[in-house]
Amino acid sequence: MRSLPQAAPYRPDPQIQAIADWIGDPVDAAGFPKAQLRFRNDRYDRTVGLAELSDEQWVQHFGRFDPLPDNLPRPLALRYHGHQFRTYNPQIGDGRGFLYAQLRDGDNRLLDLGTKGSGQTPHSRDGDGRLTLKGAVREILATEMLEAQGVNTSKTFSVIETGEELWRSDEPSPTRSAVMVRLSHGHIRIGSFQRLASLGEKDNLAALVDYALAQYPGPTPPDDAPARDEPAIMLLHQVVERLADLAASYMVAGFVHGVLNTDNMNISGESFDYGPWRWLPAWEGGFTAAYFDQQGLYCFGRQPEAIHWNCAQLANALLPIADKGALVAALNRFSDLYHDNLARRMCWRLGIISQGPDADLNLFKAMGESIAGAKAVPEEFFDSIRYRTSAGSGEFADLLGSYDRDETQAADSTARQETQSMLIEEVESIWDAIAEQDDWKPLTDKIAALREKGDALGPAPEPAGLSG
Ligand code: AMP
Ligand code: MG
Repeated sequence: MRSLPQAAPYRPDPQIQAIADWIGDPVDAAGFPKAQLRFRNDRYDRTVGLAELSDEQWVQHFGRFDPLPDNLPRPLALRYHGHQFRTYNPQIGDGRGFLYAQLRDGDNRLLDLGTKGSGQTPHSRDGDGRLTLKGAVREILATEMLEAQGVNTSKTFSVIETGEELWRSDEPSPTRSAVMVRLSHGHIRIGSFQRLASLGEKDNLAALVDYALAQYPGPTPPDDAPARDEPAIMLLHQVVERLADLAASYMVAGFVHGVLNTDNMNISGESFDYGPWRWLPAWEGGFTAAYFDQQGLYCFGRQPEAIHWNCAQLANALLPIADKGALVAALNRFSDLYHDNLARRMCWRLGIISQGPDADLNLFKAMGESIAGAKAVPEEFFDSIRYRTSAGSGEFADLLGSYDRDETQAADSTARQETQSMLIEEVESIWDAIAEQDDWKPLTDKIAALREKGDALGPAPEPAGLSG
């Protein structure tokens, strides 16, 4: 069983203020015609001491953006650049969001409350700075499903409907508006470093490395890593370790993020920013989530490559302040770490004991072939193996036969629920109930079922191969 997130008192700690001059621009939230609370995360509000807020206070903070006590006096729209579909774009940054507050959890980790849809900023270009209510509902569904599947993800903290009519080419319009708040381990992206490198702000680049190491600490690089004591090298090792596990977690979840641009890559390794995501309806490496991804650059099977490529862009950005050979050595760890994490996460999901990376990787490959051959929904297939409702088929059953069941997971079989997947038809039907009848129950029910699923699966394994 997974234990509930730990409760902690409110501990404001706006560390970003030390670098605010060059990392962001102070902004104000849009004045919305309405602020109606639609979702408050009652699992995570307690982890940052905000469970005691009344709904009215909640709306004042997360719909009107009255500052939280002793926190940022004014929100900060963060500056960053990024590679979007491999093309460098210096014209981005928080165009419809900002950093609203920073606080510590019970483990003393620094968390951000950041927004999406809170209004225009100096980085909005032609955009309206808004988020559709459907987009917000999709953020809730993606984060709750990923969390249940043991993926390191930002949490959707709050969704408030804001009463505007928005026009979007990818939704029937006019469509309803919302402002979302996410809870995450910072908003420092690979693109934040790329911007400083591209502008030649070497001192700030080094300062951002120091900020990242201080605020999001990680293990020291392996003994044999060249220049392992240098801050930029240390950071790249940590980011490679974290993102290799993130890539593995997507593959075992059957999740396609859709927009793995460098501005969507948090150096804390936490997955975030859920737009055109999909879960696989069938095992298909070429399955693409975003309609605008015509080349399939970010299709299911190419996600590890895309994330590795993003790590290489961080290495490039760090070049002005670090030794190239040492950066390359850090980057080259990605592939082995990815495979170790893939094996570990697969065994966890299937409830079996690892037979070592080589055998496990063969099993992963055979599993994909079996799921594809059986035309099964991946999530149903995983559950059927874990809960022994079927032994799989063909070669996979033979391979699986040599694996022992992980008895520490066995008790879960009593907790087996109906499989909770997240296919597009269900997503659309949850949204249709809201759009057509303002009926929020299908969404509430789904969230409850996903939380039960996560409780039954228990915590994901610690990332493999971390240096110490
Ligand atoms: P995304 O693809 O959501 O990561 O966004 C890429 C960039 O476009 C970021 O700089 C966003 O802030 C910006 N952006 C996306 N949608 C809007 C919008 N409706 N208004 C203003 N900026 C936006
Ligand atoms: Mg983004």
